[in-house]
Amino acid sequence: MDCIFCKLANGEIPTDLVYEDEKVAAFRDVNPVAPVHILVVPKKHYVSLEDIPFDEMSIIADIHAAIRKISDKEGFAVDGYRIINNCGKDGGQEVPHIHYHVLAGKKLTKLVT
Ligand code: 5GP
Ligand code: ZN
Repeated sequence: MDCIFCKLANGEIPTDLVYEDEKVAAFRDVNPVAPVHILVVPKKHYVSLEDIPFDEMSIIADIHAAIRKISDKEGFAVDGYRIINNCGKDGGQEVPHIHYHVLAGKKLTKLVT
């Protein structure tokens, strides 16, 4: 499958991974919108949340556990951060492999009040 995030997460395209475990990988966004902008993805290909079977939904907890570990390691756990998932066309998703944006390193403008 010709999926850029599969290739990055599984080492087919070499990249500096911020975090990796058996199921999850994280790497820096090529076009950061904050001082810290990390993409956290499952190593298995799912297009979006809508593509994950209910009996595999624990991958979402695995991704959030990875984010906790990354926030500790990178030092932004204390000041805080934002997690964003763009899902599908109207959600603004451009890369069709589910990914969670983790933004940190500055006071972020609120999108939802
Ligand atoms: P989306 O709009 O799908 O939620 O976010 C896709 C994100 O992936 C964008 O922030 C974009 O900058 C990032 N991106 C696209 N292609 C690449 C790539 O080849 N490498 C990395 N590191 N990030 C990418
Ligand atoms: Zn993929």
